[in-house]
Amino acid sequence: MQLGLQDKIALVTGGTSGIGLATADLLLGEGARVAICGRDAERLSAARAHLQARHPKAVLLAETCDVLDRDAVVRLHAQVQGWAGGLDLLINNAGQGRVSTFASTSDADWRAELELKFFSQINTINLFQPMLRMSSCAAIVAVNSLLAYQPETYMVATSAARAGVQSLVKSLAREFAPHIRVNSILLGIVASGQWERRFAKEAAPGQSYAAWIEAEAVKRAIPLQRFGLPEEAARAILFLGSPAASFITGASLEVSGGASRHI
Ligand code: NDP
Repeated sequence: MQLGLQDKIALVTGGTSGIGLATADLLLGEGARVAICGRDAERLSAARAHLQARHPKAVLLAETCDVLDRDAVVRLHAQVQGWAGGLDLLINNAGQGRVSTFASTSDADWRAELELKFFSQINTINLFQPMLRMSSCAAIVAVNSLLAYQPETYMVATSAARAGVQSLVKSLAREFAPHIRVNSILLGIVASGQWERRFAKEAAPGQSYAAWIEAEAVKRAIPLQRFGLPEEAARAILFLGSPAASFITGASLEVSGGASRHI
């Protein structure tokens, strides 16, 4: 099966680490032109160097941008416009989860979490929607989580916000049809930057990262008995965002190693 991504123009927010970086890598491998952004300039330049080393002929734009800062997204929009003149695929991936129970989530935490989950979608969609409308194969992929349907008490704010994003995806799929397809992926646990950060905080002295994630997978009873890899999530993102998924909109694809229990 051909994905049909050759020469297409894609923007991956949070493309400097983990799933976003793996997605940019696969897109470049498919011959797409790729823009990535992240907040940290050093991570951005390391990601650019990594991608250029793997794809010497890459048509790549790497810009610092906090997707919660609307002015920064306006600037990113101008940069993408000047660089490629259009956009076929918007992958809203930037973000991270928040570990907190209801008791430990302050009002400010709630606001920050809701802002992150909603405005990491809303800001880019608002700004890039006109550009996407000019494409004949426009698509948006929201990187979301299984928590949307299967909330966890220890991630109460993230779970609630994730459910809201699923609702947003469904509404947008109808409002933007037939011009822009809008889908999401529902992730279980994928070994990425945010898990490396949790490892650094929580691991026992001397425990390796590999041993720690293996133990976490057992503790969480993931049927496929391991964490996912960033490229396994990226492959699902590429499919949903590609012309190969041309009749799919308002849908969600679960990438969780079988972790969901709802029907
Ligand atoms: P990483 O920490 O490896 O990557 C997160 C990326 O997002 C980085 O490039 C980071 O760069 C960027 N980012 C974070 N906040 C912003 C912001 N405000 N503006 C622009 N860029 C930002 O984690 P993952 O690859 O795991 O995360 C990718 C997405 O997948 C996230 O939305 C996450 O919540 C979601 N997800 C991941 C799961 C997992 O198990 N890994 C499970 C469920 C969902 P920088 O910090 O420099 O800005």
